[in-house]
Amino acid sequence: MRLVILDRDGVINHESEAYIKSPDEWIPIPGSLEAVARLNQGGFSVVVATNQAGVGRGLFDLEALKAIHRKMQAAVEASGGRLAGIFYCPHGPGDDCDCRKPKPGLLHQIEKRFNLSLKGVSAIGDSLRDIQAAEAVKARPILVRTGYGEETLRQLSAPRRVEVFADLATAVEHLLLEVQR
Ligand SMILES: [Mg+2]
Ligand SMILES: [Zn+2]
Repeated sequence: MRLVILDRDGVINHESEAYIKSPDEWIPIPGSLEAVARLNQGGFSVVVATNQAGVGRGLFDLEALKAIHRKMQAAVEASGGRLAGIFYCPHGPGDDCDCRKPKPGLLHQIEKRFNLSLKGVSAIGDSLRDIQAAEAVKARPILVRTGYGEETLRQLSAPRRVEVFADLATAVEHLLLEVQR
């Protein structure tokens, strides 16, 4: 089984500093839904790993989060794709959980669920903590410039093996070209 891990906010949908608290606030980035479908067609299962500290902060509850994820899954399916799993950390930064990225807990959950190692698996995100979590499990970190991506790019210290793409659609195009070779 070939897997690709996606961060959610700033990768699949537009980021908001005020958090995505309801399905109405969840707005896909152009091309991202089709990109998931293209990955599926190329033989990749696609899994989401997302920090949702807004739950821990009491800004929205788990029911709202699940409604947002139903909307996301439906939107992906309407574009011809499917998300094989949506893994989230509902905790806040002060909760000291082991799943909030940059910690690798969510990625370990994925390894367990699918009974595989994420070593070398592409993990696409827009934040430094996405890259750090990927590095912790020896996955292949990929940064997109959407969401907080531009900011993250400025934070990156020089010698870091991170590939950078304009957005999810462009990153996926690259990954699919690789497997065709
Ligand atoms: Mg993000
Ligand atoms: Zn957590």
